[in-house]
Amino acid sequence: MSIQGYIHSIETGSAIDGPGLRSVIFLQGCPFRCLFCHNPDTWTRLDSHKRSVNEVLKEALKYEDFYRLSGGGVTLSGGEPLGQPVFVSALFKELRARKIHTALDTCGYVDLTPEVKDAVKQTDLFLLDIKHLNPDTHRKLTGKPNDKVFAFLNYLKDCGKDIWIRIVLVPGYSTDTAYAQEVADFLKSYPTVRKIELLPYHEMGKSKWEKLGYTYPLTVSPPDRATVQAITQVFADNGFTVLVSKP
Ligand code: SF4
Repeated sequence: MSIQGYIHSIETGSAIDGPGLRSVIFLQGCPFRCLFCHNPDTWTRLDSHKRSVNEVLKEALKYEDFYRLSGGGVTLSGGEPLGQPVFVSALFKELRARKIHTALDTCGYVDLTPEVKDAVKQTDLFLLDIKHLNPDTHRKLTGKPNDKVFAFLNYLKDCGKDIWIRIVLVPGYSTDTAYAQEVADFLKSYPTVRKIELLPYHEMGKSKWEKLGYTYPLTVSPPDRATVQAITQVFADNGFTVLVSKP
C-alpha cells in the first residue's frame, strides 16, 4: 500500500514558497504554537485527511508544465512537514525522479532521525523559520525552545543544502534593527543561506483562531512600512538578498 500522509490542503500557483510557480501542499501537525500562527487549523492531525503519496503526486503532476516553464516545483508546508518524514521522502523521491524541484517549509524543530535525514536528502531547498535567537523569547513566541532548530540548521549546513531563512516581523519581538543585526551576524557563518525572507506580521489568522474556539493571544499591530524597510536595509547592508513577502 502507498505511504499515507495527513494533508490539510493543496494550493497551486504560489509564487512565494520557493522559486518559480509552485504547488504548496500543507501537511497537518505542528510541534509549535506560534502566537502569530495563521494556520492553526493545521496543528492537529485528522484521520479523515489521510491521503496517499500516489494521490498527492497525481495532483501535483497536473501542473508539471508550469513548474518547468517557470523554474518552479513543489513545496511542502504546514503545520510541520518533517513531522511526517517518511511521507516527505516518498513524495519527493517521486518528484525528483521526474526532475521536479522540491522545497520544504519547516520550523526546524525536529530530531535528526534516519527518516528525517532521508527527507533532507530528498529536498532541494529549505525555507527555514527562525522564530527568535533568544531562547526565552523563542519559548514565549512558540511554546518550545530553539536548540533543535539550530541543530537542524547546522545539519543543513553540513549537508550543503540551500536555505532561505524566513523571519516573521512581530512588533515587540523581532522588529528592532539591533536584533536584525544580531540575526545577520549569526547567519554569516551559514554560507548556503541564499535569501532572507521577511514576513511582516499580519492578523489574517485571527478569524481562524476564533473559529476554532481559541483566544487570539497577540495584541500588537502589524509593523509599519518604515520599520520593515529599516530591517530590510540591515540585511541588505550585510550582503544578504532580501525578499519582503506581502501578507
Ligand atoms: S510553526 Fe508555522 S504552523 Fe506551526 S504554529 Fe508556528 S506558524 Fe503555525
